[in-house]
Amino acid sequence: MSTVPPAATPAAVQGPALLPGRLLARDPGWTEWADVVVVGSGVAGLTAALRLRDRVGRIAVVTKDVLAAGSTQWAQGGIAAALGPGDTPEQHEVDTLVAGAGACDREAVRVLVNEGPDAVRELISWGANFDQDAAGDLSLTREGGHHRDRIVHANGDATGAEVQRALIAAVRAAPDIHVFEHTMVVDLVLGEDGAVTGLTLHSTGGGQADGVGLVRTRAVVLASGGLGQVFSQTTNPSVSTADGMAAALRAGARLRDLEFVQFHPTVMYLGPDSRGQQPLISEAVRGEGAVLVDGRGERIMPGVHELADLAPRDIVSKALMRRMLETGEPNMWLDARAFGEQFWARRFPTILASCRSHGVDPVTDLIPVAPACHYASGGVHTDLWGRTSVPGLYATGEVACSGVNGANRLASNSLLDGLVFSRRLAEVIPQELRPLAEPATDASAEAPIGPAAPDEVPHLPEAV
Ligand SMILES: Cc1cc2nc3c(=O)[nH]c(=O)nc-3n(C[C@H](O)[C@H](O)[C@H](O)COP(=O)(O)OP(=O)(O)OC[C@H]3O[C@@H](n4cnc5c(N)ncnc54)[C@H](O)[C@@H]3O)c2cc1C
Repeated sequence: MSTVPPAATPAAVQGPALLPGRLLARDPGWTEWADVVVVGSGVAGLTAALRLRDRVGRIAVVTKDVLAAGSTQWAQGGIAAALGPGDTPEQHEVDTLVAGAGACDREAVRVLVNEGPDAVRELISWGANFDQDAAGDLSLTREGGHHRDRIVHANGDATGAEVQRALIAAVRAAPDIHVFEHTMVVDLVLGEDGAVTGLTLHSTGGGQADGVGLVRTRAVVLASGGLGQVFSQTTNPSVSTADGMAAALRAGARLRDLEFVQFHPTVMYLGPDSRGQQPLISEAVRGEGAVLVDGRGERIMPGVHELADLAPRDIVSKALMRRMLETGEPNMWLDARAFGEQFWARRFPTILASCRSHGVDPVTDLIPVAPACHYASGGVHTDLWGRTSVPGLYATGEVACSGVNGANRLASNSLLDGLVFSRRLAEVIPQELRPLAEPATDASAEAPIGPAAPDEVPHLPEAV
């Protein structure tokens, strides 16, 4: 990892005049403190917490549901990194830039592809188990936009579940990381100089209305994930409601590229009235040879792009939408019948079970698919070290935007993005911690954030 440069002087940014500075909420009824508060418990938040260990004092991870509730848990395909024979970060860089449609920040991409392999190795050292080939090497596959086999995966198509499992186990084993589930960030609190001095939280643990509280802190790491639930149909889970982006905006942080919302082309079509999280059919299914066809059985992608069915997601989504408009069909079809039962069961057990639970047997049937909202390439503007335009506020993972994804994220670059940039912000935060600001409330009411027993919702003082 390269040397850490000094922090740039962040612009004192005020939110647009028409935006409220904070949400309507009760006044804090209790006050606590931590040196660093990490908001969110997906790949980005837990990697940041693990990397900050031993570098800062009290670390609190707050998450609005249970630890595993974010998008990370749902990731199917895998993590992209130049780990295979003949592959190089430079080739990964070219594929990322092409998918990003000319809008990537080149330096951010270089950081991602060069530091990616080490970040994946570190994840393995924390206990993540990825699929291996007969020789015991990592089994690598290919997805849309990649010219090499470079995607590590776990249990066939359950990579995110394995990553989330390993990270939760590592965090649970770290007594100095204090976890607060069912605790939702309401607003960031700024000092007179515009720097973050704390945040307000609403704890609803275990059905107890513990109410709104204030946590004073020296730095906040936003790792609160994406915005899929803003759309009527999305692959994202219910917690992906853009809270972090909205809180950052209210605090005056700069956001960028919000228009670059990625639509995944192969989301299972459940009918026009289906709302919320929809089942994803991973790109890796096309990586293994499945093809897209219309209602007449005609292939859609040959002639559209040199990579045909494995073209970048925006190209495939647009091609599907064009064909749907031409033919008047509400969806297109994915043909993976050539895999046969055994291959389906071994390589894509989760997707096979998901299809069957919706009455589609991909061993014998075509899978109905249509594009749906999948990923926010934009977000809270950061530099290459996770710093935002608000002093003391850092962002990483899907909530953040370093420019690495440009207009369209390359498949399986997202888990990697969270890993790499969380490692980076953990390098700078210890050097940039500001003193704990004077409390706005009675200091005698304060308590340090204490350890939480595994699987137990911590007790927080009752709201007044
Ligand atoms: C179905 C699916 C498949 C995918 N497949 C892949 C893949 O194969 N490879 C890949 O690289 N990427 C994949 N992605 C994308 C990738 O999973 C996500 O971009 C990535 O996991 C985001 O990680 P994160 O840590 O930033 O956010 P998340 O994992 O979404 O975590 C966000 C966390 O913030 C918490 N939170 C949100 N709001 C608040 C609040 N107000 N207060 C407190 N906590 C809050 C949430 O509860 C959650 O814990 C997939 C995504 C989906 C949905």
